[in-house]
Amino acid sequence: MKTKKTVLCFILAVALILPNTVFAAEAATPSTGAYGLLEEFVTDNPSRTAGTAGEGAAADWIENKLKEFGYTDDDISRQTFSIENYLSGVSGSGLTTTSENISLSVPSAVSNGKVVIGAHYDNASSLYNGYSATGGQGVSDNGGGVAVLLELARKFKDVSLDFDLEIVFFGAEELGLVGSRHYVSGLTQSVKDDILLMINIDVVVNGDYLYVWGEDGYTPQAAYFAEISGGSARVLPANKRAVYGVSVTGSRPYYTVAHAADSMSFLDAGIPVAFFFSGNLSSGSFGYVENDGMDGVMHTENDTLEYISERYRDKMISNTDAVVNTIYNGVTADGFVAAVENARDYITGGFWLNGVYAMAITLVIMAGLGVWAYFYYGKLKKRAILGTADVRGERVFTRPDDDDIFTFRS
Ligand SMILES: [Zn+2]
Repeated sequence: MKTKKTVLCFILAVALILPNTVFAAEAATPSTGAYGLLEEFVTDNPSRTAGTAGEGAAADWIENKLKEFGYTDDDISRQTFSIENYLSGVSGSGLTTTSENISLSVPSAVSNGKVVIGAHYDNASSLYNGYSATGGQGVSDNGGGVAVLLELARKFKDVSLDFDLEIVFFGAEELGLVGSRHYVSGLTQSVKDDILLMINIDVVVNGDYLYVWGEDGYTPQAAYFAEISGGSARVLPANKRAVYGVSVTGSRPYYTVAHAADSMSFLDAGIPVAFFFSGNLSSGSFGYVENDGMDGVMHTENDTLEYISERYRDKMISNTDAVVNTIYNGVTADGFVAAVENARDYITGGFWLNGVYAMAITLVIMAGLGVWAYFYYGKLKKRAILGTADVRGERVFTRPDDDDIFTFRS
């Protein structure tokens, strides 16, 4: 009896321990590269809503990670800006009225202009103004972008570049591109002129395809990166604007998936961009879904590591790796400066596409047409009565005397 019990216990113990050991061994395999950084970042900073303590903690976390990579205080700067104007109607305790950008300057050997690579680190986890308590971790939007930036920072450490490189983690994007607008507004014109390209990364882990966008049409920088990616990143199809709204506040009268990001702050200042995002532009009612099998993740409770990685882990890894490699190989290749030299020529003119101007001009034209039609209609009426007779200057009708018509004799 006793032996039987011991054997049973042994079998039971093995049965309990063995799968756990295997599972533990699997779980212990550390995720590396950008995906590993994504896991770390969102697990430590699940809630990063602009103006909350969580956003501030995420900023500290990013700075510490950059220091782990060997960067020092001399390389890193933090830029504080007000978000007060964006917080109207916001309730919540412990909110501050500021947010921050974290900027890393990667020293270069020779300076042939400047490249800015950016991604926002805040999320819409627990917000106000429509973003009420989503509960998500902002993995797709935009933990993936942060992870790509961090991995790039790690790769660029001690690489000899021939242009200045600044890597910027923007705050308060979800409130309306506030961090990037603040960053751009602080640049002098000569610095703006000096920027060869701004590269933005936003929503790259949950998407059937990777896209690189420069403008609503052909741009040399988008074509360049698409080629460097070896087919991983596609250029935005020329016939696909993915319009999903009308805008009267931006520099264009329409609003598309490719405009709703920090890259727009730079384009508005005449700085060419390459914007990496993922999604599926061939389905969905507005020509865009994030993912054919897993749409509607961003800004929801499903934007978590658990939810997305359960369904899509391999793609998360391949997407982030593709963005890191495409950007790294693209900007370090010999042909880079030549490829982006004329990128400014392809920026769509802001004035004529501005919603307000377009509307005003349309109204003036319509008013003019109205005035013309009024007089022309008057003329037409006259012609219809008079036929084709040339009656100009002649008095055709004379007012009859009342007597002639309405005289009733009794
Ligand atoms: Zn975003």
